[in-house]
This record gives sequence, C-alpha cells and structure tokens, in this order.
Amino acid sequence: MSQNLLLRNGRVIDPSQGLDTPADVRVREGCIAEIGTSFSPESGETVIDCTDCWVTPGLVDVHVHLREPGQSYKETLQTGGEAAVAGGFTTICCMPNTDPPLDSPTLVREIRQRAERESPVRVYVVSALTVGMKGEQLCDYWALKEAGAVACSDDAFPIQNAEVIRRAMLACQAYELPVITHCEDKSLSAGGSMHRSEVSAHLGLNGIPASSETVQIARNTLLAMETGCHLHIQHLSTAMGLELVRFFKARGARLTCEVAPHHLLLSHEACEGYNTDAKMNPPLRTNEDRLALAGGVLDGTIDCIATDHAPHARFEKERTFDEAPFGIVGLETALGSMLLWNQGQVLPMEPMCLIDLMSTRPARLLSLPAGTLAVGTPADIAVIDPHARWVVDPTQFRSKSRNTPFAGWELVGRVRYTMVGGEVVYRGD
Ligand SMILES: [Zn+2]
Ligand SMILES: [Zn+2]
Repeated sequence: MSQNLLLRNGRVIDPSQGLDTPADVRVREGCIAEIGTSFSPESGETVIDCTDCWVTPGLVDVHVHLREPGQSYKETLQTGGEAAVAGGFTTICCMPNTDPPLDSPTLVREIRQRAERESPVRVYVVSALTVGMKGEQLCDYWALKEAGAVACSDDAFPIQNAEVIRRAMLACQAYELPVITHCEDKSLSAGGSMHRSEVSAHLGLNGIPASSETVQIARNTLLAMETGCHLHIQHLSTAMGLELVRFFKARGARLTCEVAPHHLLLSHEACEGYNTDAKMNPPLRTNEDRLALAGGVLDGTIDCIATDHAPHARFEKERTFDEAPFGIVGLETALGSMLLWNQGQVLPMEPMCLIDLMSTRPARLLSLPAGTLAVGTPADIAVIDPHARWVVDPTQFRSKSRNTPFAGWELVGRVRYTMVGGEVVYRGD
C-alpha cells in the first residue's frame, strides 16, 4: 500500500535536478509531492527520520540476470526483486538469456506482467537480438518494442558474424531501440575461464585475452557509427577497451558503456586458489586495467555502473574452475562496494556523481522513467546511511544465490529504506 510519507532531515541528492541539500521530501499518493525545508507532519502522514542519511532517487541497474523463465533454482523475479530493493535499486533491466530466451513479444509481455505481480522492483526487459540468441536470424524488433522491450542484446552469446550484427543495428536503429553488446570474439576466448596472464599460466587455466573484448568493441562501434544505432557496451573490463570508447566518443559515436563494481575493486589474482566466486565473463583483469577503468569512471567516459548480477546455485560453483559457470551476484553489494571504492580514490567523487552513475544516467541512457526526485514523478526513493559499515554475509542475501567474491568484506554505506511508488518495499535494520 502506498502511504503518505514525510522523509525528514535527510540530505537530498538528486542529480536530475542538480540538487544536493538538507531537505524534507513529501510523498503523496505514490508520487513526490514537494521538496523543501522544515515541513510539519500532516495528519495521516508517516514520518521517516532521515537524519545523517542521503535521500536519493532509487538506484537503477541496466544489467541483471533474473533467470526466469527456466532457471528458478538460481533466482526468480521475486527473489531477484527482493535482492534489488535491499540494494537500494528501484528499477532494473533483465537480460534475455533465460530458458527459453526472451526473443518473442509473448515472452517479453509475460515477464513484464509477472514481474509487476511478483517483484517489488520495477523490471524492464531487454529482449534478444537474434532468434534463440543463436546469432543468425534477426528478431522482430518492432513487435518486441510494442511488447515493452527497452533494448536488445544477446549478452552472454555475443554475435560473432559482423554482417548479422550490422543488420540488427540497422533494424534496431529504425525503431529507436538501443543495441546492448557483451563484446567478446569467441575465436579468441574459446576454452578460456579467466584473464590470460601469468596468473592463468601459473594456475594452469586457459586464458581469455584482453583482445577478445577490444576486437569486438572496435567492430561493434564502427558498425554502430555506420548504421547510426545507439550502442551500449556492457561490463567494460580492459584499459584498451576504455581507450577505444574514448576514441569513438570523441568522434561522435552514439556510444555508452557501463562498468561493474567487481572490475573496479578486484583483479585476476582473486582467482588464485581456484576461487570460482571470482569467475565471471568478462574476467577480472590486471591491476592496470582496474586503475584505468577507475579513471574512466572519474572522468565521465564510463556512463554508468551496472552489476551484471548473475546468480548461480552453489552446486554449480562447486565444480572445478574450468567447469563452473561464469558470473557473480551483485545487487546487494553494489552500493556498499562502490562507496568503499570511492573512499579509496585520491580524489573521491562527490556523492552526487556516484548517484548519477548508479541512478540518473543509467535511467537516461535507456530512456527509463526513473532516476529522479522531480515533483510529480513516482516516489522511487533510496534512503542511504553513507557512514554505516557492514560485513558481507552471503547467508543473509535476499537473492537465492550466494556466489559473491565479497564475502567477509567490510563495505561502506547501507540502505535504510527503499520505496517504489511511495510504498516502502525494503526496510534495513
Ligand atoms: Zn555479459
Ligand atoms: Zn550479463
């Protein structure tokens, strides 16, 4: 039930309005009613004390794997949604590599309708780029858009054939659908399970070279420029990949990109001891890559933070490093790990910039109605205690899965409340 709320004495941070000020926020009938100072509670209003907390637009994650349909033992719309709101997210985009893949308007509609009933977070669907994500036959993009898809991607199954993705970009461009790509040349990465380096050699594991990412970043961006399509590059992991993004942005490409918190905080040494919770794709890279990506966040080249939340069951991650699936969960540690990361920078970002990267900018790049506290918009809000320190205990996750490399880490910043449409959907301790 949506209530009338008065959020008092918080530090209101809203990048969409350039707002960073001590203020109260009034919520009426599910929407932001007014922002100001020294409001007195009115009758029927629930007062939430936000002293020492940030009051921000709910966080937005454009890259989440919810595993439905077909793999509900890993995650469901409900548990993924609960994990999201516990992490301060109010809007997420789910990826199409489900079983079956989300490549038809019927499935897109079904997921949207089910999410509305079963998930506490707003869920938007990124549909497949090719039928069955096989990289061959184009989907019916107009029908997918009509059904509510906000973008198209073959994420985990990147299209290898350049002419296929070129035609997909042409068609998506005509319908103003962004194309989202996981950049990986499979002929270069085949058989690899971690970054190719002296560490992989030492562990006796096949490596995934940096070039498998950079080759496709260059190819996809060149094709995006030729077709006029908006290209969004997922989970950037290499210094050279970032350099290419800089190069093409400077030449006017309609190009945006994301980085995941784990690529900012961890490097390939985390795989030592065959730690399968440090196995993801793209893999953790070198310390130089990590530091270069930090530079890309701080100078604005990187458009947003996205988790690539990829739940897997314990029995799957207990296989050998070679055999275990790629991916880690991220929704519940994203904010705390990003605040920890920011604290470690020589010149940390202003909170406004961090919220921009985790809420306003990701919403804008896919034209989602989110990432703002503007009066009259739905009250999707996160109340964050930026000083709270907490230790990651995966057994406490709302997610169905526990595959995180951050277990035992002390993170900074905790979500106190998350509201979606004025309804309190998460309350921290
Ligand atoms: Zn991916
Ligand atoms: Zn992914």
